[in-house]
Amino acid sequence: MKLEIAKWKDNAVSPVVFMVDDIANIAIKQSNSSSLQIGEDWGHYGRDKNSMWDFLSNNLLNKFPKIKTTFFLVTDKRVPMALGEEYTYNKSIVEDKEFIDFLKYLNSNKNVELAYHGTTHGEAAINHEDFLQEWETFHTLEYAEEEINRGRELFKKALGVYPMGGKYCGYKEGNFGSDSIANTSFRWWAYHWDGIIWDKESKDSRYNYDLEFNQGVIDIPTTVDGSTLSLRIFKRLFTRKYLKSLYMYIIKNKTIERHIESLYHNQQVISIQEHSSPYRTDGKIQYPNIVSDIDNLNYIFTLLSKKDVWYATCTELADYFISRSNLKIVMEDNNAFKLISKKSDTVETTIIIKENKNLYALYDNNDKFISRFKIKNNDSYLTYNFNTNILYKINAI
Ligand SMILES: [Zn+2]
Repeated sequence: MKLEIAKWKDNAVSPVVFMVDDIANIAIKQSNSSSLQIGEDWGHYGRDKNSMWDFLSNNLLNKFPKIKTTFFLVTDKRVPMALGEEYTYNKSIVEDKEFIDFLKYLNSNKNVELAYHGTTHGEAAINHEDFLQEWETFHTLEYAEEEINRGRELFKKALGVYPMGGKYCGYKEGNFGSDSIANTSFRWWAYHWDGIIWDKESKDSRYNYDLEFNQGVIDIPTTVDGSTLSLRIFKRLFTRKYLKSLYMYIIKNKTIERHIESLYHNQQVISIQEHSSPYRTDGKIQYPNIVSDIDNLNYIFTLLSKKDVWYATCTELADYFISRSNLKIVMEDNNAFKLISKKSDTVETTIIIKENKNLYALYDNNDKFISRFKIKNNDSYLTYNFNTNILYKINAI
């Protein structure tokens, strides 16, 4: 019998992660209306009508209840895009009890996790072009670590726990990116915009669509831009983003459908990137954003709902990868085995018998029945919380 550890939980073909940047204690009014309008909130308005969370829940998450979202939280008072510009409301995450309560409410939702996205997001200048992203402002490793730890403490003050992972602001790592992340206790990090491989045909080896270790931290790839529109989203016809998608199709024969299909075919990570709000202080629309892209997101998640995918938060993804990377299956005879791990005494993982659709069950060493295998993608598989270094048996049933 040939046993293997499945690449992804429940022998799914690909994991799907929904990643939303720049949740913050910020609001930015665009209209003269006294009531909150859709898009004007970056998180400050919590669960109010037309808030970021209200819009996202009603227009996407409630329709696709399996989606798992990782939000990237700006912890301190965020800077504007240029000096002199202002948000309507802008404070650190620990300044309002209501906002802390909202963050706690999000964090208690098993389909949501909050991750780290810096303190101020960077340094504004007179011109927008001179904006420095947060990691670009760190001139020494010591200072980088000091600032990250200050942000981690703000996160902990609000939520009672430290963030497990995060993402650079603007994907800019500066001179001390990797070292500063490795030295500040993160389990995973989104280091790059990896969709650049598809978008710009980059061959740079730093970018890829799979998980890997970077100085002991899991590098989670970001692979799909939520504003790459399907050409079937006719509501966005004649918008700049639609024309770009049309250009990609006509000139390069690329569509978002083919990109997702290729990730899926190769069992790679499908991680969809979004921003919480369209509005910035300079009056420009930031893309991607959940409001402009909502029809496209509904289209993408409908497409994915017909596939065999595993919806996961970034931390769940990282944890599965860590256990898979540390596990070895040792066969003791044809149907008895142990899982060996240097790291832990118990581990939840998915074992598979490849290309085998017979009926099997897992037993303990005293032949006591534990669980039946299931069959999917031509393989028999079982997800179970195993004890490591303990003998298990598999028998046909
Ligand atoms: Zn950001």
